[in-house]
Amino acid sequence: MSVFSNVSSMSQIIKARIGIVGANYAGLSAAAKLVSLFGTKEHEDSDVKITLFDKKDGFLHLIGMTHGLVHTSFAPKLWVNHDEISWSKSDLIQFCKGRVSSIHKNHLIVDEKVESPFDYLIIATGFSRSPPIWPTASSCKDYLQEVGGWSNSICKSDSVVVVGGGAVGTEMAADVKSEYPSKEVILIHSRDTLIPGPFTNVFKERAHQELRELGVDVILGERVIDETSTKNGIKSSVILTTNKGRKIETNLVIHCTGKGKAASDMVHLPPTTSTPLVDDNCNLRVQDTLQLIDPAYPHIFAVGDVNDIPVVKLAGAAISQGAYAAENIHKLIMSRNLSTKLSKYQGPKPYMCLVLGRHRQVSQDTDGEIGGAEFTTKLRHGNLEIYRIIGAMN
Ligand SMILES: Cc1cc2nc3c(=O)[nH]c(=O)nc-3n(C[C@H](O)[C@H](O)[C@H](O)COP(=O)(O)OP(=O)(O)OC[C@H]3O[C@@H](n4cnc5c(N)ncnc54)[C@H](O)[C@@H]3O)c2cc1C
Repeated sequence: MSVFSNVSSMSQIIKARIGIVGANYAGLSAAAKLVSLFGTKEHEDSDVKITLFDKKDGFLHLIGMTHGLVHTSFAPKLWVNHDEISWSKSDLIQFCKGRVSSIHKNHLIVDEKVESPFDYLIIATGFSRSPPIWPTASSCKDYLQEVGGWSNSICKSDSVVVVGGGAVGTEMAADVKSEYPSKEVILIHSRDTLIPGPFTNVFKERAHQELRELGVDVILGERVIDETSTKNGIKSSVILTTNKGRKIETNLVIHCTGKGKAASDMVHLPPTTSTPLVDDNCNLRVQDTLQLIDPAYPHIFAVGDVNDIPVVKLAGAAISQGAYAAENIHKLIMSRNLSTKLSKYQGPKPYMCLVLGRHRQVSQDTDGEIGGAEFTTKLRHGNLEIYRIIGAMN
């Protein structure tokens, strides 16, 4: 396969424009790695530009989001403006705030008007989630206002129903009940056990038991099919109806269902094989090198929640995939050959750490071992790498 024309073999000067769409866990990890690889003395004469595109102008640490929605004093700790990240000052880096509306073979369009060319691209756009667990705000000020509004609603409600008993819903219900023990907190989940995914029944049952002990009412095996707002005196309330005919009146409903799709709608690349570029859940199909599955696009990678790598979608996996893609792009640029053999990503075995309110935790490690508070702390600080990337930012 031919070499990019902008890599001058005469002068040996490396010249590359690298775009990264999505600047949260996976995208920032990729950028941090690229800065470390191209910011060396060896690359003094190189002309490498890395541009990060995001709708937001800051990093949102989703891992603490359920806690931030309950505690207004904690919410500010979850947002870091992109320009406060230490390596953002590197000459290699540029942030562009805006929604990438379309991605083509060698350029992308921001906010449907500005065209930006690239030689290499990393797509790290995650999953389309809804508020409150994934706030819509694009600046720190609006984020604090949005989350503050939810905290206020939780505080004023006598009863809160959380819909969806995955990891996020389970943590959400626990956070509300732990902070407000006198409130009625109900968690409704359509399946027979909490926390869908490749986890042991012992882990799932342990999470359920922790919620019961906290005082959360857990309703399993029922799906919410209707939600009607009503006025009850001066307080407005909502009546939920489940598929089994149960009716629940509550002041506040927090949706934490896993419903949604990978954010890949901006990818407008014509497939050149019979395998579509996206799967049924809109995840971008990738090879184990994290390049798009279609051989026509060896310079485009997809990392984190947006791709179809069969791992539990967690921040730790997104961070390590971002770094992998960056290393592979470095190899392609240095070899000046798009057919260069690249490293293959191997996802971790499933693991999960749940923080259930202020004092309870439960984890399953990669060997299937179950633990509580002390064990979870060890897992979070050891395997997740979150604290490493946050550390790299400040
Ligand atoms: C409430 C909550 C709690 C969680 N808790 C944990 C946990 O405890 N541990 C754990 O490991 N994982 C946890 N997760 C999962 C984890 O957050 C995800 O796996 C992780 O965010 C994936 O990272 P990502 O970079 O791929 O995508 P994201 O973090 O979703 O980032 C995608 C970025 O792309 C941007 N973007 C999307 N589309 C566009 C576009 N068209 N133009 C410009 N920008 C765009 C978004 O603004 C966003 O900044 C949690 C998730 C949630 C929602």
